[in-house]
Amino acid sequence: MKRKITLKDIGKLEGQMIDNQKAGLSELPAPFENLDDQPDIKELTASQKAKFDISLDGVSAIGLVKPQTKEEEDEFVKKFLSGLKKLLSKENNWTFLQPLMLSLENCAKCQNCSDACPIYTESGRQEIYRPTYRAEVLRRIIRKYLKKEGRLLSKFTGSDIDLNYKTIARLAELSYRCTICRRCAQSCPIGVDNGLITHEIRKLFSQEMGIAPKELHQLGTVQQLKVGSSTGTSPKALASFIAFIESELEELTGKPIKLPVDKEGADILLLHNAGEFISWPEHVEAFALVFDAAGIDWTLSSKLVAYDSVNYGVWYDDVQLARIAARHAQAARDLKVKRMMVGECGHAHKAMLVVSDRVVTGDLNIPRESAIPLLEDIVLNDRIKLDPGKNRFPVTLHDPCNLVRLSGIVEPQRRIIRKLCPDFREMEPHGVDNYCCGGGSGFAIMDNANFADWRDVVASRMKLKQILGAFKDVMSPEVHKYVCAPCSNCKGAIRDLLARYELTEKHGIHYGGLVDLIANAMVDIKGQFIHWDEA
Ligand code: SF4
Ligand code: SF4
Repeated sequence: MKRKITLKDIGKLEGQMIDNQKAGLSELPAPFENLDDQPDIKELTASQKAKFDISLDGVSAIGLVKPQTKEEEDEFVKKFLSGLKKLLSKENNWTFLQPLMLSLENCAKCQNCSDACPIYTESGRQEIYRPTYRAEVLRRIIRKYLKKEGRLLSKFTGSDIDLNYKTIARLAELSYRCTICRRCAQSCPIGVDNGLITHEIRKLFSQEMGIAPKELHQLGTVQQLKVGSSTGTSPKALASFIAFIESELEELTGKPIKLPVDKEGADILLLHNAGEFISWPEHVEAFALVFDAAGIDWTLSSKLVAYDSVNYGVWYDDVQLARIAARHAQAARDLKVKRMMVGECGHAHKAMLVVSDRVVTGDLNIPRESAIPLLEDIVLNDRIKLDPGKNRFPVTLHDPCNLVRLSGIVEPQRRIIRKLCPDFREMEPHGVDNYCCGGGSGFAIMDNANFADWRDVVASRMKLKQILGAFKDVMSPEVHKYVCAPCSNCKGAIRDLLARYELTEKHGIHYGGLVDLIANAMVDIKGQFIHWDEA
């Protein structure tokens, strides 16, 4: 039977707070009704268990190594408290202090947000994954340990939380059991943003304690600043990718199509998530094809950092976010382009179009836009010749949270698909009510220990249900089906989800970007642009 977990347990319970997660999971539709046919969350090996702190739920996202002595534990707690003080001060948190305080001070405990959270509901309503759980733990620590008047009050109200190593270690892991999709915030009648609280907790751990998933920090931001891209792609490697893409384009169209690089004064500096060059070069090809055919004046940059729209700091660390945002803007200024444009990458929309407003100012504040409305203009105004008959296969659309809920880009992608895909079927719910792919806030690239198992089984569970629902009448493997995901991270999460449940092999479900569907409909391309064995 599921143990009843309370807030106080975070600092008291011995062992794992929850175990055997699979048993409590929500039911899946056909063909996965049987729990035994579903993938497992691997138990860690004895040596992993000895090394990593997995006392939250048996999963290790951040690879937190257990302290060896009581002194180390005490030091850990001390650092957390000092970081928390800074998080709550104007001088040290000028970026997000106001929205953080509004969210910390105003929760009415109505629990509307809980039903909106796919991680909470799909886990079988595990208390520790409730949107308010981590927020309330933070509130109570602040009240009891940072506010004098709170000490007495918390005793009377029974809201005491022990501030010890266990509490803080579990809170650190818990900040990586939320994808910052902000569906909860949208459902809150008073606008409390539990996603933002998650972000701020992550920020405290990263900026003040040096704790962040290696995939986001060392292999992400640090590598991007040093080598040029979070994928490890150097400018030299970029040149070879571009040469390869140009040769593919020539083979496809029979004419040379160049990808402009470092073109001074271009109208648009296009920034792709550099993962596209490695994992989905056909997506970069599709952009080049469509832009070339429509006569767009555009360029890529070959400057370190500026050929990768990635800015992982947006998920965990304001300092890292600012470093990358400034480098992006500097490259655009040096090239004297009129505007910067983000390709199909959701978190880059958030970093470049929204959060950068707080960090790139003055002459670095260059106009920044999404590529989706431009693609809409090209398609809806017939700037290139397209034949919807070439897209006669079932298509559904995944809405990246940062595109729809955060940036308000909801209809342009739909107008494109409605015009080009005769068998378009919406997921339910969709648009601003969408569910995260499960890969948001870095989850798509995080793979420490058994974290990717947990992501595919719990965080992506609702997306799996939506995809199965959209294609339930055409599940035969002979029918090619396409999940359109206009975001690199969402594509990565959906790729892993389809592989985990063998949905491509056994049920013909493929995935890809939005511009790929446009390229596939181009009358100038002989045959199909989309290769089903790769999509
Ligand atoms: S919906 Fe808003 S007010 Fe209600 S519990 Fe959730 S965060 Fe608090
Ligand atoms: S931001 Fe998303 S994942 Fe995080 S608590 Fe809210 S609804 Fe759940």
